[in-house]
Amino acid sequence: MKVIKLSKSSITTAEKNAVLDVLEKEYLGMGLKVKEFEVKLSDYLGRTALCVATGTAALQLAIESCGIGRGDEVICPSLTYVASFQAISASGATPIPCDVNLNDLTISIEDLLKLITPRTRAIMIVHYAGIAAQMGEILKIAKLNNLRVIEDAAHAFGSKYKGQLIGSFGDITCFSFDGIKNITSGEGGAVVTTNEETLNYVMDARLLGVSKDTENRYNGTRSWNFDVFNQGWRYHMSNIMAAIGIIQLDRLSLFITKRQKLVKRYIKKLNAAKGLELLNFNISDCAPHIFVIKVNKSKRDYIRQELLKQGIETGLHYQPNHLLSFFKNQTVERKLPNTEEVWEQLITLPLHYDLAYKDVDKVCSALIKILDES
Ligand SMILES: *Cc1c(COP(=O)(O)O)cnc(C)c1O
Repeated sequence: MKVIKLSKSSITTAEKNAVLDVLEKEYLGMGLKVKEFEVKLSDYLGRTALCVATGTAALQLAIESCGIGRGDEVICPSLTYVASFQAISASGATPIPCDVNLNDLTISIEDLLKLITPRTRAIMIVHYAGIAAQMGEILKIAKLNNLRVIEDAAHAFGSKYKGQLIGSFGDITCFSFDGIKNITSGEGGAVVTTNEETLNYVMDARLLGVSKDTENRYNGTRSWNFDVFNQGWRYHMSNIMAAIGIIQLDRLSLFITKRQKLVKRYIKKLNAAKGLELLNFNISDCAPHIFVIKVNKSKRDYIRQELLKQGIETGLHYQPNHLLSFFKNQTVERKLPNTEEVWEQLITLPLHYDLAYKDVDKVCSALIKILDES
């Protein structure tokens, strides 16, 4: 039986040749390929981008660059990948779980306002599934309360908020280029901002805090005599990763167009279906990372099992972080009504660049049949 995969990378001979080229030059670590990828990302976004090893590393360094750590609170929607919460706690700060809107699963402004305390230092928002959070309101609230805004834009490379590219405005934007994201560099991530303090911090902190190591590497020299001023990490990107990312960035508009077409087809086929609900978003602004539906929670696991029997993989985005043992113990228990209602209703359907339109048709008819019979 042919399996319809939930997600996967799309790799052509161009990526393979780019990696071979790096291997042949025998300079595999962080060097000029990373610089080239950063220049291309910065041109695309109109702001400086610095590459790191993972999206999680990007988030952690972004928080630390704001001087946020132990005793500080960072508000974050609970309905996100555990990476967002782990990045906050890695910095020493406490992640404060926030509720989401039921219609688009981005952060609830109403709940956010209830959570701001004198210890709050930042809001980490998530552009869920590629759907932009309410950035206008969030930036306004942040300004009024003297808070930083860190965007977990792992789902949203190429997405827009009211026509503006995510990463081209705002405070600090973090992307992930892991294997299944909108573009990949194998693993990888980027911090994007105009904030000089953040840029300077990330340049050193990604290389063990070795002062000016980024600059030296990009000039083809190594830092033999150096000083260290901060805790640093081994969070840099390699030339091999950057070589993949450069080709993927060239293919971005193909990726976005195809993902949008696949999602439009899902919406067309499922809009009138009984027993399921779709998220509410503007597809022309969205570079969709995942496609999520809501079903009756008592039927969710059954539906997933039946789809899998027909070779259709599905996913769960996400288990709320405030229900995970490690984070439950960090804050006072608090109800998040929307998150707690919705997460058990969610099913993520297959979505990736190489998915065929007839595969979408097959997923939709299988799903409709299961819903009709259950
Ligand atoms: C993928 C992802 C991350 C982390 O990115 P990595 O590159 O895998 O470390 C963070 N947040 C969200 C919402 C993600 O989907």
